[in-house]
Amino acid sequence: MNVHSVEQVQKLTVIAPATGQIIAEIAETPIHEVPLFYQRGRNAFAAWSSISIPERLNYFRKLKQLMVDEMDQIARTISDDTGKVLTEAIVADIMPTLDAIDHIIRHAEKVLSRQKAKTPFLLIGKKSYIEYMPRGIVLVISPWNYPLQLAMVPMVSALAGGNTVILKPSEVTPLVGKCIEDLFNRSGFPEGTVQVAHGGKEVGAAFTEGKPDYIFFTGSVRTGKIIQQQAARDLIPTTLELGGKDPMIVFKDANLERAAKAAAWGAFTNSGQVCMSAERLYVERSILEEFLELLKSEVRTLTQGTDENADVGSMTFPAQKDIVKGQLEEALARGAKLETGLEPENWQEGMFIPLTVVTQVEQDMKIIQEETFGPLLPVVPFDTEEEAVILANGTVFGLNASVWTKDKEKARRVASKLVSGAVVINDVIITVANHGLPFGGTKESGIGRYHAEGGLRIFCHEKAIMEDLGLMNSEIQWYPYKGKYPLFLNLFKNYFGENRNWLSFARDYLALIKSK
Ligand code: ADP
Repeated sequence: MNVHSVEQVQKLTVIAPATGQIIAEIAETPIHEVPLFYQRGRNAFAAWSSISIPERLNYFRKLKQLMVDEMDQIARTISDDTGKVLTEAIVADIMPTLDAIDHIIRHAEKVLSRQKAKTPFLLIGKKSYIEYMPRGIVLVISPWNYPLQLAMVPMVSALAGGNTVILKPSEVTPLVGKCIEDLFNRSGFPEGTVQVAHGGKEVGAAFTEGKPDYIFFTGSVRTGKIIQQQAARDLIPTTLELGGKDPMIVFKDANLERAAKAAAWGAFTNSGQVCMSAERLYVERSILEEFLELLKSEVRTLTQGTDENADVGSMTFPAQKDIVKGQLEEALARGAKLETGLEPENWQEGMFIPLTVVTQVEQDMKIIQEETFGPLLPVVPFDTEEEAVILANGTVFGLNASVWTKDKEKARRVASKLVSGAVVINDVIITVANHGLPFGGTKESGIGRYHAEGGLRIFCHEKAIMEDLGLMNSEIQWYPYKGKYPLFLNLFKNYFGENRNWLSFARDYLALIKSK
């Protein structure tokens, strides 16, 4: 599992979820060392923030090459630690991390360099620009479902801007946390620039209270709210990447075969432990039966296991299995129908859950309203476009969604109406794989965005700078005000009015200059 008992000796015992075998022990970071981490991070900040972006990016190149050289090993570590199949470790955890590093190597210098800004005409004689100044120490707290990507992408984004980083990876996947620490160390990042603290929520809380300059958190809504409260006490800016309950809307004119394959993959990839997985499937009523048949036959082809050719791996976190079970039990007790899968009482021991499709569910059931994070897909019919939008928007979440139709206009119209951080048309999840697009949620799915240009800039203070040559002894708006009010009144009424008269403007402006 990655059940990790915290023992007297403060070690995290790592048990592979798919096999139940103990595979490692990792020393927990003692809480009393938290100030030391911050001290080392602050010491390293002076040098790291002073070197140029291209110099920083040289370290990124080493890191990327090391990851390319050791890709298979990293994939196996991820798979052992999470129970996910190797293909998903490489496609959905390693590839997006490498692509993010690549994207940053190509774009960071331009995005983080001084940007020219326009200066309004009324501020004649001045120049304006924006600078991006690193914040200091960025605390990244990461989850267990994509333990490489969701830790490393914010880390490299923060590092590019000149920040130092402390990572607190999930205690559920500490082996990947150790692997990340090792990768940064061997890439030669200067001491203190990247530090990794191991342990559970107490360690996370101690680091949150240690006054970092920014907190980047990915995890549950519950913990996100706790972290935001602590951050508010110290006025620390945050990004919160939280849960999802992503709707998939299939209209009758969609490519149904493709949509059925996408629904199976979108719902069951990573055993459904994906914040952007398809968690609710809305199907136009007239094709419900036909679509269900396509979906069920696709699901029946899927294999679960640990070997290289299996399609779906195990669950990662035992507590998550209970959540999935609870939601299914409630739905079945209220009349839902199993289309695939088994009643929870017939589930086997261990961390594999049958791939479950359910119909006859109500909009107020937990299976529709709460994040499942497991291989459980409720299917709901709808009659009109408006109804589909209302149902899709009817939860507290808003991370991703997908719309399926061959009618481009309809797809775009529906996409625009969804209260969601992202929408995919005729595909699922995939926006996250384009690092040029912003990533983040609406409503309880989170606060802020990363990836793309904004994903580098959030880790920097945006500094507005205006330059004046300093040749004039005064400015028109400075003291004394004597006689200036009527001149300003004329100037602004003319300047902002519909029929601006430049001759009057020049006359009033010169009069103001004279009265300085
Ligand atoms: P998930 O179950 O999705 O991993 P959690 O929110 O429980 O979600 O955990 C995400 C990360 O947050 C983990 O690294 C965990 O150790 C950390 N964490 C949990 N509780 C706290 C807390 N109170 N303060 C700081 N970090 C926490």
